[in-house]
Amino acid sequence: MSDRQYERIETPESLISTLREMLGDRLSTAAAVLEQHGKDESWHAASPPDAVVFATTTEEVAEVVKLCAQHEVPIVPFGVGSSLEGHVAALRGGICIDLSRMDAILEVNNEDLDCRVQAGVTREQLNDHLRDTGLFFPIDPGANASIGGMTATRASGTNAVRYGTMRENVLNLTVVTPDGKIIKTANRARKSSAGYDLTRLFVGSEGTLGVITEIALKLYGIPEAMSAAVCVFPSVAAAVDTTILTIQAGIPVARIEFLDEMQIRAINKYSKTDHKEAPTLFFEFHGTDAGVKEQAEFVQSVAEEFGAEEFQWATRQEDRNKLWAARHKAYYASLQLEPGKAGMPTDVCVPISKLAEAISETRADCDASPLTCTIVGHVGDGNFHTLILLDPNDPDQMAEAKRLHDRMVERALKLGGTCTGEHGIGYGKLDFMEAEHGADTIALMRALKNAIDPKGLMNPGKLIPGL
Ligand SMILES: Cc1cc2nc3c(=O)[nH]c(=O)nc-3n(C[C@H](O)[C@H](O)[C@H](O)COP(=O)(O)OP(=O)(O)OC[C@H]3O[C@@H](n4cnc5c(N)ncnc54)[C@H](O)[C@@H]3O)c2cc1C
Repeated sequence: MSDRQYERIETPESLISTLREMLGDRLSTAAAVLEQHGKDESWHAASPPDAVVFATTTEEVAEVVKLCAQHEVPIVPFGVGSSLEGHVAALRGGICIDLSRMDAILEVNNEDLDCRVQAGVTREQLNDHLRDTGLFFPIDPGANASIGGMTATRASGTNAVRYGTMRENVLNLTVVTPDGKIIKTANRARKSSAGYDLTRLFVGSEGTLGVITEIALKLYGIPEAMSAAVCVFPSVAAAVDTTILTIQAGIPVARIEFLDEMQIRAINKYSKTDHKEAPTLFFEFHGTDAGVKEQAEFVQSVAEEFGAEEFQWATRQEDRNKLWAARHKAYYASLQLEPGKAGMPTDVCVPISKLAEAISETRADCDASPLTCTIVGHVGDGNFHTLILLDPNDPDQMAEAKRLHDRMVERALKLGGTCTGEHGIGYGKLDFMEAEHGADTIALMRALKNAIDPKGLMNPGKLIPGL
């Protein structure tokens, strides 16, 4: 976990005046606005930018970027600030470009199952817009994040086990490069062998290579039938083993979410539900009526083999919505277990065969710690999260939380996994990059960054150690 100190670069008054002339009240230097834009949803301290620009067009973003490049001032792109590893902190000061007013849905191509949106469109806004078309966009991080931010963090969520992550669902991007040029990374074809895959280079680049202003996305038909179930297990291992066997059997579940006993307690309290407080899986199945029935029966039989105590169905949309709303509020529910404390969230991802070991050992560490921790996971992908509750002003609690956090990440790496399945690196996880990738791979990443952003102005201090 990173404790580095960063030197701020002074933003010249002349740049702020030029931007104010250009944008009027769409430039802000109000303290509250700066503070809000320098802080994400996690425990990481705020590091405010010197000004926030609310852009409305790609051309305007390009103008702002050119001016910042001329003055050698850092640029931090901003979606809705729901990231969790200090991603939006302006560690060296500079200008934050807030994309939230670029919220137009530019085209929906029903026949091709795709759409093009501006970067500030949120995932819920897109699905509301699509409601009457019979299509939907499946990627669902717990927060109502912007599509630009989700692209920049290579986000995923509960549906990724069936529909993939942002990596699989972005067709092309419009990007403003660090010198202010506007480029498009690809066309709309579903596949292409034409040259370097720049789309995939920018997906997950966390604002360090350019500002994404438009995104073309894959869409999916709303399935004919959907069914959800809640299944309670006698142990963490039984729940995880059910997941592993389901995935290994090739069952195309849409969602398999693990929630440990402490997480269920938090959800019951926060969402006024009455789930049994025990290791639990939430499932969702998509397909035809017959397909959904077949998948569900298979999973139920596997769960029973591992000693599942209850298997409750939610076939009505209203009940399914209630179930997933409670799941999506798991983070805020956990925070309310000890009001006033901050949460240190972290996620790792391991090969599915190593999941039982990774989660059981993490839970044992948490049980032996004086700090309260919840575990929840998109386990169908081998991905799980721990939220550690702590008082950031108490050095002993901070040290203990960091110890738990680091052990969880080191264990995932030892098991052939990654230090983050979906939240990304920001500056919170910089220290694990070399351990995960090796020095030569990091040197190549650094060379790519230097080639595209030679002045090092795009979101400095993030993603690649030593920049
Ligand atoms: C309660 C909760 C639950 C969450 N659950 C999940 C989950 O299940 N799965 C998951 O993947 N994440 C999850 N997250 C994390 C977060 O929602 C995602 O990382 C999300 O993708 C961030 O989007 P944003 O719009 O908030 O981006 P921001 O936080 O504003 O920015 C994130 C990063 O992307 C860069 N960026 C933003 N917009 C652009 C752009 N247009 N061009 C270039 N760079 C840009 C920023 O500079 C920053 O580095 C959760 C967060 C919360 C608070």
